Amino acid sequence: MHYGESAELTMLRESVASVANDFGSDYFLRTARAGDKTDELWAALAKPGFLGVSVPEEYGGGGGGITELAVVVEETAAAGCPLVLLMVSPAICGTVLARFGSTAQKEEWLPGIADGTVKMAFAITEPDAGSNTQAITTTATRTADGWSLKGTKYYISGVDEAAAILVVAATRDESGAPLGISLFIVPVEAPGLRRSVIPMEIVAPEKQFTLFFDDVVIPHAAVVGEVGKGFRSVFEGLNPERITGAAIETGIGRYALEQATRYGRERSVWGAPIGTHQGLSHPLAAAKIELELARLMMWKAAALHDAREDASEAANMAKYAAAEAGLRCLDQAIQMHGGNGLASEYALAPYWGLARLMRIAPVSREMVLNHIAQHSLQLPKSYGSVR
Ligand SMILES: Cc1cc2nc3c(=O)[nH]c(=O)nc-3n(C[C@H](O)[C@H](O)[C@H](O)COP(=O)(O)OP(=O)(O)OC[C@H]3O[C@@H](n4cnc5c(N)ncnc54)[C@H](O)[C@@H]3O)c2cc1C
Repeated sequence: MHYGESAELTMLRESVASVANDFGSDYFLRTARAGDKTDELWAALAKPGFLGVSVPEEYGGGGGGITELAVVVEETAAAGCPLVLLMVSPAICGTVLARFGSTAQKEEWLPGIADGTVKMAFAITEPDAGSNTQAITTTATRTADGWSLKGTKYYISGVDEAAAILVVAATRDESGAPLGISLFIVPVEAPGLRRSVIPMEIVAPEKQFTLFFDDVVIPHAAVVGEVGKGFRSVFEGLNPERITGAAIETGIGRYALEQATRYGRERSVWGAPIGTHQGLSHPLAAAKIELELARLMMWKAAALHDAREDASEAANMAKYAAAEAGLRCLDQAIQMHGGNGLASEYALAPYWGLARLMRIAPVSREMVLNHIAQHSLQLPKSYGSVR
C-alpha cells in the first residue's frame, strides 16, 4: 500500500489551487449572493482542462479518473469556491455517459462537459419518493416514435445553467407493462418540461428546481444504456457523486481550518494568541484528525472506483465522514473567531448551508448508515429498499 500522492496529482492540486485562489471566498460569496453564476471561475478552470480531467481523452478530456476530479473539487472548495455542479455534471453525468452512453451520445455531450461549455443536471429525487429512489413514479411510456415522460422531480441542481438533464424514470411499454428503470437525456428546453425555483437558505451559485414533465417527448436515441437497466448505470454515477460530495466537504473543512489557524495565531485578548488556549486548539486538532481520516477514505473510494472495483462501501463511508468532519471544522473555526465567526467579513458562516447540505445530499447520513448496517454489517433491513 502506498499512501503518498503522485507528483502528477500534486501538480494538478497546486495548479487548481492557484487558479481558484485568484477568485477566493470574496468572489464566490459576492457572486452567489447576487444570484449570479461563477462563470469566470468555471471558464478559468475549464481553460487548462481541469473540468474535464475525468473525461476520456478521445472526447477531449484529460483521461484521468474520479481521483483527479476529486482533487479539482477539493481544491476549489478549499479556496472558498465550492462548486456543486462539479459533483453533478462531470462526476455523475460524465461518468455515466462515458461508461454507458452510445457513441453518438458521447460525441454529442462529452466534449462540452470536458471543456466546460456544457453542463448537465441530474434528476432522480422525487417529492413522493425522496430517499427511497426505488419508489420513483416519473414514468416514460414507450410510443411509436420514442418515449413520453410524465412526472415530477425536486431539488434538481443547476437546471437554469444546464443544457440537458439526465433523468431517471420508470419505463413502461405501450400497454403499460413495467420495463424497469431507465435513463434519459432530456434537453432543458424540451416542450412539456416546466421548472420552478425552490428558494433555499444556502449561499451557492447553483439554484434548486422542481421539474414537471408533462408528456415530454423523448426520441429512442436519448435512452442512455439499456432500457430497464437504468439503476446499474445510475450506480456508476452515484459513487463519483458521493466521492466528489465528500471532496466539497473536505475542501470546506480545509478552508475553515486555514481561517481558524490564522486567526488563532493573530488574535490576542489575554496577552497571548487565542490559539494557545487548549479549549480552542484541542477541538480544532480533533477536527483536523477527523478531516484527514475522511480524506483517506475519500482517496480510497476514488482509487477503488478508478480501478473499477466495488467502491460503494468506501464512497458511502467517505461521504459520511467528510460531512461530519467538515461541519466540525467549520463550527470550530467559527468558535475560534468568537463574534467575528458570524460576521460577513470573516466569510465562515455563509458556508454553513453547503457544509450542512452534505449530511442530507446526495445521500443522507441515515441512508449511509442503513447501507453500512445492511451491506457491511449484514444486519437485517428495518425498512423497504435502499439505493
Ligand atoms: C441543495 C440540494 C441539492 C440537491 N441536488 C439534487 C440533484 O441535483 N439531483 C437530485 O436528484 N437530487 C438532488 N437533491 C436531493 C437529495 O438527494 C435529497 O434531498 C436526499 O436524497 C434526501 O431526500 P429527501 O429530501 O426527499 O428526504 P426524505 O427522503 O424525505 O428523508 C427525510 C429524512 O428522513 C430520513 N430517512 C428517510 N428514510 C429513512 C430510513 N429508511 N431510515 C432512516 N432515516 C430515513 C432521511 O435521512 C432524512 O433525514 C438535492 C438536495 C438538496 C437539498
